[in-house]
Amino acid sequence: MNSNDTQGGAIRKIVIVGGGTAGWMTAAPLAQRLANHPTQPCEVILVESPEIGTIGVGEATLPTIRVYNAALGLDADDFVAKTQASYKLGIEFKDWGHLGNRFFHAFGDFGPALAGFGAHQHWLRLAQAFNHMPDIENWSIPSVMARHNKFVPPNEETPGMTDAYSYGFHFDASLYAKYLRDYAVARGAQRIEGMIVEVEQHPESGFVTAVKLRDGRRVEGDLFVDCSGFRGLLIEGALKAGYEDWSDYLPCNSALAVPCASAPRLTPYTRSTAKEAGWLWRIPLQHRIGNGHVYSNGFTSDEQARRALLDGLDGEALDEPRQIRFVTGRRRKSWDKNVVAIGLSAGFVEPLESTSINLIETAVGKLLELFPDRDCSPALADEFNRVMGIRYESVRDFIVLHYKLTKRDDSEFWRYCANMAIPDSLRHQIELFRETGRVAIVDRGGFAEPSFVAMMMGLGALPKRYDPLAERVDLRAVHGHFAALREMIAQAVTRMPDHGAYVARQAAAG
Ligand code: FAD
Repeated sequence: MNSNDTQGGAIRKIVIVGGGTAGWMTAAPLAQRLANHPTQPCEVILVESPEIGTIGVGEATLPTIRVYNAALGLDADDFVAKTQASYKLGIEFKDWGHLGNRFFHAFGDFGPALAGFGAHQHWLRLAQAFNHMPDIENWSIPSVMARHNKFVPPNEETPGMTDAYSYGFHFDASLYAKYLRDYAVARGAQRIEGMIVEVEQHPESGFVTAVKLRDGRRVEGDLFVDCSGFRGLLIEGALKAGYEDWSDYLPCNSALAVPCASAPRLTPYTRSTAKEAGWLWRIPLQHRIGNGHVYSNGFTSDEQARRALLDGLDGEALDEPRQIRFVTGRRRKSWDKNVVAIGLSAGFVEPLESTSINLIETAVGKLLELFPDRDCSPALADEFNRVMGIRYESVRDFIVLHYKLTKRDDSEFWRYCANMAIPDSLRHQIELFRETGRVAIVDRGGFAEPSFVAMMMGLGALPKRYDPLAERVDLRAVHGHFAALREMIAQAVTRMPDHGAYVARQAAAG
């Protein structure tokens, strides 16, 4: 191989545009991995404008945040203390599917597979045999923990069930960004405050060469990461990558967010309550509760939404509700030339399953995996866009599922959702489950079978059949297995500490 012909030269300067959650989640691992290399150092520069500010609402996460934090070497207790975090075992859904409905989507499974079959195949069989669908949450340890407001990481009180559940965090997003900022700056990242007013591009290649600030400064770079939020300053403003609009599938386009005073019980889960034209979130932190209303202003007014939000608070509102508008969808290319969009600049799907921060983690990980040289081969961009495309679409389908399976017909909004067209990929998923109890997993890095089962059964989509091979397992053995599992979970949860007490203990240690 002739390296002069093929190797484009190492990237020496990365410019991250934007210092929201995405910007600092990108800067931290890049600084850790690239900034201080003894022979090939690479500058990591982040430009942010305090005048524009950040969205700063992302407060609920998936368990993968722990993998991200661990890769940075963050101390888990210190993180809990500094970001006012609480632990998250999953999401409680209220009034989704039908009014009065309640179920839990947990970070975990429903016990170990019995004779190689997922638990739900056996329940469906038991349900048919005994003509009664059991309360499946009794076999999900995180669901039982959430019900009793308990928390402990897998291991300490749960021998034999260590893989049965996982957990994420709720945290104050602006404190988290600050935490990562300190981390990145300590490892050599440079922070520039200023308003970008112009993006310079190479006249022939179209590569971005520099961003120009209002005060005249120019910041040059070899690689640019666009973390400028919804505006997509580089990826759309300069490169016109295009946006795929998914509003027909997900009609919510607005949010109101407001913090309120803490409630006496610190709950280890997010709550999502379906409303007339959207849903309310409730995210418990140590120092406050984060609340919001995601809704469609085509089906309700901003004022009605505001009232629904304020009426649903557990404590006194600590601020005026803040309004955010969005267009659900994704950038057609989130990597184009030498610009990689991460965070809201790459796309947005409403926070019903707390997927945005997870998508940032995925994108940063992929960028490092596919790290380019200065030529930024289009093949790398294609691969990044392929993987991120699958990830965004699988998130979209999973969220659309929450709406499509509704039996609610008490408002125009829910009637629209029940009747709307859905992507073919999701139509197949729903049909497969309804007909056979099987789940099609398109994205191995995304939601797994227990998540689909929890949501579809929680929303009332019961399969007509179960796996015929499950009949080979002795029915009494199945019955005995689930009875023992239920008892084991009940016993283990009794011994666990209260979630609030556990958080206080860990935060004090941090
Ligand atoms: P932003 O926070 O908008 O940051 C943009 C940055 O770009 C800012 O620093 C700004 O100063 C800078 N900038 C822009 N233009 C310029 C310019 N011209 N010059 C200089 N700097 C510039 N995610 C979750 O995972 N869980 C949740 O529970 C969750 N809840 C959410 C609720 C709502 C209502 C919304 C809208 C989002 C939610 N998200 C959630 C998503 C999450 O908030 C975002 O993914 C995350 O905050 C990343 O935002 P960002 O950094 O891409 O953009």
